[in-house]
Amino acid sequence: MEDDRTSRWAQALRLGCGYFILAAGTLALTRFDGGVAFLWIATALLTARLTVLPAREWGPPIAACFAASVATSAIWGFGGATVVPLATINMLESAIGATFLRRLVHREEVLNSHRWLIVFIAANGIAAPLLTAVLAGVTVSATLGEPFLGNALHWYNGHALGTLAFMPIFMLCMDGQAARMVQRMKGRKLLEMGALLALVAVVSAITFVQSTAPLLFLPMLPVVLATFRGGALSSAASIVILTLIGGFATLNGHGPVALSDAPLGARMQFLQLYIACTMLTILPATAELQQRARLFRRLSESEARYRILTESSTDIVVNIDRHGRLQFVSASIRQVNGRDPETLIGKPISALLKSDDLARAQTLFRQIMDDPEMIGVQEFRGQTRDGEDRWYETHSRAVVDVAGTVTGIVCSVRDVTHRKAAEERLARAALTDPLTGLINRRGLDEELEKRLASGAGGCVALLDLDHFKQVNDTYGHAAGDEVLRRFATLARSSIRDQDIIARLGGEEFAIILPDATINQAHLVCDRVRRAIGDARVRVDDNVIGITVSGGVATYRGHQTASDVLRNADRALYRAKNTGRDRLATAA
Ligand code: GH3
Ligand code: MG
Ligand code: MG
Repeated sequence: MEDDRTSRWAQALRLGCGYFILAAGTLALTRFDGGVAFLWIATALLTARLTVLPAREWGPPIAACFAASVATSAIWGFGGATVVPLATINMLESAIGATFLRRLVHREEVLNSHRWLIVFIAANGIAAPLLTAVLAGVTVSATLGEPFLGNALHWYNGHALGTLAFMPIFMLCMDGQAARMVQRMKGRKLLEMGALLALVAVVSAITFVQSTAPLLFLPMLPVVLATFRGGALSSAASIVILTLIGGFATLNGHGPVALSDAPLGARMQFLQLYIACTMLTILPATAELQQRARLFRRLSESEARYRILTESSTDIVVNIDRHGRLQFVSASIRQVNGRDPETLIGKPISALLKSDDLARAQTLFRQIMDDPEMIGVQEFRGQTRDGEDRWYETHSRAVVDVAGTVTGIVCSVRDVTHRKAAEERLARAALTDPLTGLINRRGLDEELEKRLASGAGGCVALLDLDHFKQVNDTYGHAAGDEVLRRFATLARSSIRDQDIIARLGGEEFAIILPDATINQAHLVCDRVRRAIGDARVRVDDNVIGITVSGGVATYRGHQTASDVLRNADRALYRAKNTGRDRLATAA
């Protein structure tokens, strides 16, 4: 804790020394016409420092810089009664500028975004120096009787320019960002940046040392080059170089501005305007470039993540363009499907699907293109390279560009053939009678409902083995089962291809005879009855004979399944009651 405080004050002391040197230097070298400095850099240093400290730690740096400001303005500035008020105004300026930056933007954003740039210019280039220029003008005119307007104007120009030109580089240096940037640069890039800054210095020197040609446009070339090739640090440094060389040369009567025979004050103001314009050209370009570089970095990071995912996954990722052609197919298709992703690029989606499913896929494709928010989940059939049928589960959604236009679809595709087969087995099992392999009661109901719903007509027969209880009682349950199985086989081979036979339970069976008249149905069922009656079932040493009775009823589209079965059951009851081993038809 104690150590912390000591180091805080040591840092503040170093900052105060820096402030003193900058304030003294600019006052001694750039103060003109007995007024304020042409270029006030010290505020930039303190403001940059305050932006990296929480407000509760501002005490030591402000105290140190206040002392430095008092000392310099006493020695080189207006002196006398202005010293304390002007130093206070200087501190106020930094506090205002830093407060805006801390509140409104993140400090990692220095020169990185347009938002940062707007806040930076509005707070540190306009609001803070304008307010303090008024206060300083009032102070100087009240205490020294100096003209308010001239001093306020010069104060504003010098402070705004000094802060705008120097604060970005101070901020980059302040919490090690600049050092990190330099470390990240490879040898060649660093060399290039050094060369670019040297070029800025040389061209600025050539421009501002001579006073014969109006070459003010010339430094723009290396400054733009340094911005585009060297990034934020190089851009910030080139503005500092141009400002320093241009400022000192002009102040000493050199350079293109000296071609004008205006008084020094006006010439210096013209130079300030020139530098401000250069900065306002360069800084937005820097922010834009930084933003793009960041976007590019993020894009390549997400590309790398995506690559890891698609390459290690057994799912296939497929991109389809707006016209339904394959744009990208992930390498995993090799393991899953045996195909080479490259050979599929540019082909229509039909290359991956069975033709029966194509229309469904195209409908889904159109739905997703029309509704970019939708995630489509559907199963499709396809084939491996060797022609083996597979089931694929697909999750698809639209790909939208920055302008909100749908540019295609991305799908993740999973081979679900095994799951699908298991589901089909289960579904079949749920409708099948395990003893005979015929469909069961539920299967019969579904079939009959389907036929009634289609509006078609036909017949239904209910068959019941006669005195079956006796078979069980005499030969045992296992023999009874064998008789049931044998009945199923015989009945199936006696009916027509289009007829469907089901075991309803126990020794009761039903046959649906689509499109059959009652006579045709009677004929078919009688064939079954006779086949059973003639058959002898051999179980162990026993030969079992059995007969069957049946009731036949017609069905039509408007009836319900239970109505039809009830009619057939009534007929069956009659067949049983009139002696068994016979058929009866519903009236
Ligand atoms: P009816 O001529 O009046 O139809 O006489 P039935 O003996 O066939 O009729 P009932 O309904 O009295 O008896 C049916 C018998 O079928 C009773 C039961 O033991 C037997 N059964 C039901 N399900 C099975 C089965 O899965 N296997 C065997 N072996 N017997 C069964
Ligand atoms: Mg029965
Ligand atoms: Mg029976």
